[in-house]
Amino acid sequence: MIRDPRGQGRRLLLSQIRKSGKIARVDLARNTGISQATVTAITAELIREGLIEETERVMDGRDVRRGRPRVDLKLRGDSHRVAGIKVADSSLSVVVLDFEGRLLAEHLVQIDRRAYGTAEIVSQVQRALSEAAGIAGLRASDISGVGIGLAGFMDADNGIAHWSPSLTDRNVPLRDILQESLNIPVFLDNDVNLVAMAELYFGQGRNIDDFIVVTIESGVGAGIVIGGQLYRGARGYGGEFGHVKVQLDGALCRCGQRGCLEAYVADYALLREASVSTRFVETEQNAQRIHKLIDAARNGDATARTIIERAGRMFALGLANLVNMFDPELIIMSGERMQFDFLYAEEVMDSIAEQTVHSDMRPPEVVIHKWGDMMWAKGAAAFAIDGVAELAMEGMDGNAA
Ligand SMILES: [Zn+2]
Repeated sequence: MIRDPRGQGRRLLLSQIRKSGKIARVDLARNTGISQATVTAITAELIREGLIEETERVMDGRDVRRGRPRVDLKLRGDSHRVAGIKVADSSLSVVVLDFEGRLLAEHLVQIDRRAYGTAEIVSQVQRALSEAAGIAGLRASDISGVGIGLAGFMDADNGIAHWSPSLTDRNVPLRDILQESLNIPVFLDNDVNLVAMAELYFGQGRNIDDFIVVTIESGVGAGIVIGGQLYRGARGYGGEFGHVKVQLDGALCRCGQRGCLEAYVADYALLREASVSTRFVETEQNAQRIHKLIDAARNGDATARTIIERAGRMFALGLANLVNMFDPELIIMSGERMQFDFLYAEEVMDSIAEQTVHSDMRPPEVVIHKWGDMMWAKGAAAFAIDGVAELAMEGMDGNAA
């Protein structure tokens, strides 16, 4: 699609308004370098379209002395409701947000299998979505867009799930299939990219241009933000941090290759190693088994300790490679598995520092963000907010032409 300057201006201003929360027109012009006259014209269009609204700034003493009430612009929350869904190992997490990102409902649906066929996953998503909409006092048809995140190889541009541990089928045009059955625009992406979106929209990356989110769940991933934009790579496979090789001819990864970081750090890898020496009860969930393994390591079990320490060393090696490659300002380690503090123990951090290119500059800051599945779902919803806004603006582009 050819983007006219007007269209680009709309996108830039809308994203600036979103980032700022509330912002005056004069500051929009200053921050974006767009002339005040154009800001006035474009924001008028966005107000007509219902995407943004004016809000009077609460006055403090200084503003009163200036004598004129200041008017800010903000996203119009009521203009759209969106949903975000994260498909995980044993659950679907759903959030419903308004266009401003305010939480209207959250809903967790337990599922009984690790992987489903396409038709089954579609009906699971359908059910979870209408239940979540119900909690928000809405019908599913009131939702303007649904973002959905799965682990694995997703082609976000074309909406294709090439491979996912949650799907038994490969190369599924999942976005279009879901869109048809839900009758709502659907936006599909790799779940890790959605966490990066959540950090960019609502979290610690809100005012940072270059950062990397590393997630450790059942797999390991990285969402890369460069210049305030999510980087997906040419084929949409960028950020497959879990499949960075840390050992030549190493352990077998579930992707079929050897020596991947995931094959040492992910829960299935830890449990595979541990099952040789530790007796797990058949009915235990993986999370319980992992806890048992970590407890054993803490209590001095030599095998458990070896497994955990090796995971930590491999993780440090992977992170050092990321830092050497991208030089991010910030690394956010995010996800449920971050409760397992062995992955960011002091030795791991030291090991990262030892393996990154030395300079007199400070190494990037590493922060831990322990957010659960609802965070991933919020990221999916952020992706939907983006997608819904884009559809609205494409409509405006069409009208202008
Ligand atoms: Zn792999």
